[in-house]
Parts: sequence; C-alpha cells; structure tokens
Amino acid sequence: EQLANQIAAGEVVERPASVVKELVENAVDAGSTTVDISIEEGGLSLIRVIDNGFGIEASDIVTAFQRHATSKISTSSDLFRIASLGFRGEALPSIAAVSRLQCISSETTTGLARRIVIEGGNVTADEPANAPQGTDMTVRDLFYNTPARLKYMKAIQTELGHISDYINRIALAHPGIAFTFKHNGNVLLRTLGTGDRLQVIAAVYGSNTAKVMLPVEAENADYELRGFISKPELTRANRGGITVIVNGRYIRSHAVNQALLQAFHTLLPINRFPLAVLELGMHPSLLDVNVHPSKMEVRFSMEPELRSLIEDAVKRVLGRQRH
Ligand code: ADP
Ligand code: MG
Repeated sequence: EQLANQIAAGEVVERPASVVKELVENAVDAGSTTVDISIEEGGLSLIRVIDNGFGIEASDIVTAFQRHATSKISTSSDLFRIASLGFRGEALPSIAAVSRLQCISSETTTGLARRIVIEGGNVTADEPANAPQGTDMTVRDLFYNTPARLKYMKAIQTELGHISDYINRIALAHPGIAFTFKHNGNVLLRTLGTGDRLQVIAAVYGSNTAKVMLPVEAENADYELRGFISKPELTRANRGGITVIVNGRYIRSHAVNQALLQAFHTLLPINRFPLAVLELGMHPSLLDVNVHPSKMEVRFSMEPELRSLIEDAVKRVLGRQRH
C-alpha cells in the first residue's frame, strides 16, 4: 500500500507546483471565498493552503488520505475530471506519501474540527481540534523520503516560477475568490474576490496593463466567449500571456490559442503575442476529456465553429481599435 502510494505519487506529484495545484483545486472545489497560499523555499520546505470552504467531515478525514477512497468525480462528462483526470482521489494520499503533511479541517454542518498528521504515508496523529471553518493543509519537506525525486528539483526560483504561474492563472479563472500568495513571507499576489476579472488582471500583470485590455464577447448556439485581450500597443514576445478558462476551469487548449493567434496575426506581426484571458462556457458534452491529464489539455467536439467564433470576435475587437 505504501509502495503503491509512492508510485502513484511519482505521477501526481512531479514538483512543488503539482502539490499547490492539487491543494488549491480542492480549496476551490470546496466553495471557498478566500484561499491563502504560503510557501517557503520554492515549496520544497513548506506549502500551506488555508481555505474557508465547507471542510472535510471529521469522520471522512482519514479516508480522504486513502487511495481511490473518495472522488468528487462521478461522470465522464464532469468537467472536474479534466483538471484532475487520472488523479481521481489520488492527490492527497500521493502528497502525504512523499511529505510531512498536516490537515486541520472544520466541516460546516457539524462544526467539528479534526487534525491529522501523516509522515511519509504513516498517520502519526489523528485527534479532535479547534479550528475556524475550512481546511488548513500544511505540506512540509516535500520529497524528503524520495531523494531521487528531490534531486530533480530545479533552483528555488524555477520552482517558485511554476507555482506563481499556476496561482496567477487560477486567480484569473476565479475572480470571485480572494487569493493571497506568499513566498518566504513576501506577498506576491493578492486578489480581492469581488468577481471583477480586470481587478485580477491588474493584480497579476499590473494596473497599467489592465488599463489597455479590450473586452471580447461573442456567442453562438453552443459556445459563449468572454474575456479580455490586450490592445495592439501592448504585445509580448511569447504566448505565455494567454490564459484560457473553460467552464470555470483553467485549462490549456491548442485550438483556442490557434484561433486567437490566427486573428491576432492577421493584424499584427507574427513575432508578437497578445496578453489575453479568454473564458469559454459550454455544455460539458462538447468537451473531449480523452487527453493528457497533467497538461490540462482539452479538445472540443465542434472545433471549427468554436475557432471561427473566437477568430471573428478577436478580429472585430482589434479591427475596431485600428479605425
Ligand atoms: P479528488 O479531489 O479527486 O476528489 P483529492 O485526493 O484531491 O481527490 O481529495 C480527496 C477528498 O478530500 C476530496 O474529494 C474532498 O472530499 C476532500 N477534500 C480535500 N481537500 C479539501 C478541502 N480543502 N476542502 C474540503 N474537502 C476537501
Ligand atoms: Mg483534488
């Protein structure tokens, strides 16, 4: 069982950013309105995620850390499955297998809190606790018992970069949640949770950037598109500034990127790229979940229609800018 956990952990927990992703996604899924993330040394010595969500029931807390014990995912059309495909109910046990983890959770309906400590997969404490509503997950000494994995970790700045990038995107995807992100005690991101996406863009990219974002909006029978794209005077040298959100989830989509860039490059030099946050809404049955999990890549069943919706909308917005 412990070995199985460590093997699973190798797939789920590639680096500190994978832990942050799983913990923050769980916090979001728990209906939280505030999520505080603190890390130290690029996440290798500490990752702590505190949320005010509905919590884990005291009687469920041990099972939450057992493999395949639980999963929020029930149908293949469930979009949750895209973000955590292959990790169904495996994230927490995998993380606990390769770190020293403490979970304190207070569940909404009972108001009861419990604290559990797991070190390298072994439960070393499991007791009642006092805690405010929500869940407080602390992951220390990641990979302390898997030296081979630890050896592959890059410089602290590199690991921090991956984590920071992920948190920026998840904050952009959830403007209604107030996120705070600290590294070694320094606040790197703070969003207000007002639901205003431009405010999050300002927090992530700076207020001058937020000022030059143009709203994009369009829909057809199947897809709804809204978001922001930067004015032509604010372009970038790479496509790293493109964030795609599908049904409330931050994902990667080659098709959406292509459509956006196709439109953008009919008007602007091909070595320049926009900053863009695009949100798509659709029926989950229009999503193909049969793609690689860790990349968060998705495919759409009526891709040509979706592409032209995006292309046309972006051309319209940028074209209006030119005249
Ligand atoms: P999954 O998210 O695929 O269900 P996880 O291993 O990430 O699997 O989490 C296991 C379970 O623990 C979740 O299904 C959820 O019920 C519970 N859980 C984990 N984190 C939280 C949290 N922050 N708030 C509430 N429940 C949580
Ligand atoms: Mg999860």
